[in-house]
Amino acid sequence: MFKIAIDGPAGAGKSTISKEIAKKLNIEYLDTGAMYRAVTLKAMRLGVNMEDDNAYGFLDGTDITFINGDIYLDGENVSKAIRSVEITNNVSTPSKIGCVRSYLVELQRKISESINVVMDGRDIGTVVLPNANLKIYLDASVECRALRRKKERDLAGVELSLEETIKEIEARDLKDSTRKINPLRKADDAIIVDSSDMTIEEVVNTIIKLAYERGFKKMSEKFVNGQNVQGYIIHVTPSYLKIELGEDALGIIYSNDILDVVDGHSLHEYYNVGEQFEAQVKSLSKDQKTGQPLYILSTKLEQERLAKEAKEAAAKARKEAKLAKFQALKEADEIISAKVSKVLKTGAFLSYEGHEVFLPVKQSEVSLEALSKLVGEELQVLVTFIDAEKAQIQVSQTLASRKTARLAKKAEFDALAEGQVVTATVTTLLPFGAILSFGSQTGLLHQSEIDHKQVRDVKQHLQVGQEVQAKIIKIEEGKISLSLRAMTRHPWEILCEQYHVGDVFEGTVEKIIPAGLIIKLTDEYSGLMPKGEYSWLLTDKLEEQVTEGSTLKVKVLDIDSKKKRVSLSRRATLENTWGDIKLNRNDIINVTIAAVDEKGAKVSYKNVTGYLPVGEVSATRRVGRVDEIYPVGTEVEALVLNCDPLRAKLLVSIKAIELNKERESFDKYMKQQDSETPVSTMADLFAGLNLFEEEASKKSKK
Ligand code: C5P
Repeated sequence: MFKIAIDGPAGAGKSTISKEIAKKLNIEYLDTGAMYRAVTLKAMRLGVNMEDDNAYGFLDGTDITFINGDIYLDGENVSKAIRSVEITNNVSTPSKIGCVRSYLVELQRKISESINVVMDGRDIGTVVLPNANLKIYLDASVECRALRRKKERDLAGVELSLEETIKEIEARDLKDSTRKINPLRKADDAIIVDSSDMTIEEVVNTIIKLAYERGFKKMSEKFVNGQNVQGYIIHVTPSYLKIELGEDALGIIYSNDILDVVDGHSLHEYYNVGEQFEAQVKSLSKDQKTGQPLYILSTKLEQERLAKEAKEAAAKARKEAKLAKFQALKEADEIISAKVSKVLKTGAFLSYEGHEVFLPVKQSEVSLEALSKLVGEELQVLVTFIDAEKAQIQVSQTLASRKTARLAKKAEFDALAEGQVVTATVTTLLPFGAILSFGSQTGLLHQSEIDHKQVRDVKQHLQVGQEVQAKIIKIEEGKISLSLRAMTRHPWEILCEQYHVGDVFEGTVEKIIPAGLIIKLTDEYSGLMPKGEYSWLLTDKLEEQVTEGSTLKVKVLDIDSKKKRVSLSRRATLENTWGDIKLNRNDIINVTIAAVDEKGAKVSYKNVTGYLPVGEVSATRRVGRVDEIYPVGTEVEALVLNCDPLRAKLLVSIKAIELNKERESFDKYMKQQDSETPVSTMADLFAGLNLFEEEASKKSKK
């Protein structure tokens, strides 16, 4: 693009010269002074303090545009208003404000970005277009400039004397060239053109010449695209018109480019040769016959531009709606169902509610080949990336599947309850337990929960891959604790069901210990039978009668659930025949001769058996065998010589009774003698005899 910067003091003729150059070179003209004036106008209308840097906040909502050489401020044509003396006298103030300058410089650069332009002002060559192809510093004496300005004013009907105009110009020169920001200054590479003694044409030609020297090429076209042109119809055909556009310029317009021409109708119905015709340049072509430039014209450009704008606005709205929609889906992390429409080498296009989204193959759960077989199928995907610039949406099937799995896992987890029994597989063995998995869940089986018995080595109880029935015993903070132990009843419970106090059973002796016997109860528990519980008789020695592994009939004496101890007794199963036997020495009892042997006879007393030694049968007779006197079955009175129930011992004597009887009769006799013989003599006679003592005590009691 060719850019010409023209700077210079007020009244040097910049705008007149620039306009002329623009016209001749067929390039755009931008009057930057008008823009500073427009800002000044708005500031004054708003009544802000123009000296205050902070007063220009309004620039944000300000719109300054040029349409057909006129300047519009917020939609209002202010071309005239900005030329008032008031504005002229004040314009230097906003022009020195930094934010005003940066705002307008930015706007000027933007407008001139992609066009050939001649721009005039104070800082064009130095600031706005530092790379301009041609920089001109247009100067003129103050008087000369004042005169020109006065003429302009006179024409516009504004009255101001020459002196006043000079003053005004000098004042403005001073302000413009001494302000801090972007003062009026000749750019180092600018060419000075002093217009004081030059006509407008001379100045214009000088600058145009310089432009050509700097490489400006006159465009072959006389008109630029979009330009409004006028001419005369020189040829009418049913489908196009040829228009003469002044010297050396020919235009053509086709019926479909003419507004108001109804489709299928001949242009003869509408136009005649010689009529004036106005249109816009659509493009430049060549006349096929002459090779001359031929402008393709249209009267629909504006309509087309509006249609294009509307289309663009609609596309923009669609794009924004699309972005908003997918942004919301992305933020909500919502899984969507999109249909596979096209598969490429890098992935697949899916369609979702009329929008195209892209699934990169890396984000697909299946291969490209498999994807191509899924055209027309719905896939569950998540929005992962939004390219707002290109309005492209990227999705992931992998993440969607992961999310689905995560949700399912959560739902499964939420449905779990403590106490629930699950079939689980041992997946990992740990030093202190194992990890079990069931469904999509995993849980911890602590070592202490493997068995009721203490588990020292997990490996001895579980293997990886083993299937077990486990009970959920705790769900806390997303963690599941499992138990195998809880699946079975405590062995003590089972024992308590199996054994009750009073039960009699055949127990196996596991061990003989000093305290008694260990008798097996269940696999887990054994009972203790204290030594004393073996027999009623001291003579029964368990060490002699019991061996480990032998069985015994035992009775449950006590079950201590607290200490988990069971006490057993053997003797409680046996009748204690000696239990009722309470006899003292010399007691007289009736016994029955039960069996006779060489040394005596077994005698029955109540339900125990005693013994009568043959020597104790008679005091008077010499007896060889008991049954010589007392045949078996005879009931006889006998005296207890010794009774030891703990040893099942009862020794009786008949002889002792006889002796006692003799002694009694002797005593009787002696009593009779008592009345005749002194007691002392009798006492001497029976000294040392128990009988006597007994008698003596009886007597004394009497
Ligand atoms: O050229 P014109 O007289 O219309 O400019 C009006 C004022 O705008 C100038 O006096 C100057 O203060 C300011 N101006 C500027 N920089 C420009 C153009 C104009 O400061 N590039």
